Amino acid sequence: MTTYREPLASVNDTVGETPLVRVQASPDDVPVYAKLESFNPGASIKDRIGKYMLEAMLDDGTLEPGGTVIEPTAGNTGIGFATAATQLDVQAMFVVPERFSLEKQQLMRALGAEVINTPTEDGMGGAIDRAHQLAEELDNAVVPQQFKNPLNVEAHYETTGPEVHEALDGEVGAVVAGCGTAGTLMGMAQYLREQNDDVVVAAVEPQGSMYSAFFGEDPEEGEYKVEGIGTHDPATNELFDPDVVDELLSFDDRVVHEEMQRLAAEEGQLVASSAAANSLAAREIADRIAAGDLDAPHDTVVTVFADSSERYLSKGVYRDYEEWEG
Ligand code: PMP
Repeated sequence: MTTYREPLASVNDTVGETPLVRVQASPDDVPVYAKLESFNPGASIKDRIGKYMLEAMLDDGTLEPGGTVIEPTAGNTGIGFATAATQLDVQAMFVVPERFSLEKQQLMRALGAEVINTPTEDGMGGAIDRAHQLAEELDNAVVPQQFKNPLNVEAHYETTGPEVHEALDGEVGAVVAGCGTAGTLMGMAQYLREQNDDVVVAAVEPQGSMYSAFFGEDPEEGEYKVEGIGTHDPATNELFDPDVVDELLSFDDRVVHEEMQRLAAEEGQLVASSAAANSLAAREIADRIAAGDLDAPHDTVVTVFADSSERYLSKGVYRDYEEWEG
């Protein structure tokens, strides 16, 4: 594990190698471990793909030095790309639906990026269309398209998966992760299944999201407050491969909100809503393994805590449920 005892040349050298910490509320005999992704320089899991995808596109000439990266993003991906871009001679521009957190948009601007808002009612699909329009108007601009770019999955296959495998000496029973683009889950699952084909793979979404439709269910589409995971638009779930997924767990906002507060008060974990959903899901999978209701190759469950609650304080994450704006 990187200890950061040596001086480093750039924040890009601090992406990844995040701590893996036990979720204390998990069963004694089937511990859940979470990767604390707020330890990345832009404070979320998306720093991994920002660095990985920009470097890969510069390497293969998809993007020329001095060029512009334009991405439709809820925010964390923008911060990840913007952080990496400061070190790689790349300009950054982001298209963000209005409903997403203002903190994230401020951070993207502070990192030198331009932020363009699109109406909430146009959804992520509207932001994707606008990003492509902008790319046509500029020279040497690319839209990495995290929602369908295999490099997103590859970033986690090359970093997050191996880090977990190594930290647990290969003893991974199940991997659990909320799906936005599904890059995190697909990349980790692919790597961990190559080490052991029996690893249980569980996807997580908020109630109202449509990933369950992949499994022949007829979910009721709805709004939710949890930020960063879930899908409404087929244009945002192209990386999700249902054949890889053994279990899909959905949670409503109220229980996620309770878990977010519990994680802070009892475990000292200032993590956001997608992390709380992952915590609930991973504990449920661990309970089922412990009860003998689910077969897993090892008595260990891993998940990710993708970002910190500090990024959402203005939305009232720690106020009463009704006051949480989501
Ligand atoms: N949690 C948060 C807070 C996120 O910003 C994201 C990315 N949208 C995710 C989870 C989901 O990650 P992925 O896109 O890799 O599925």
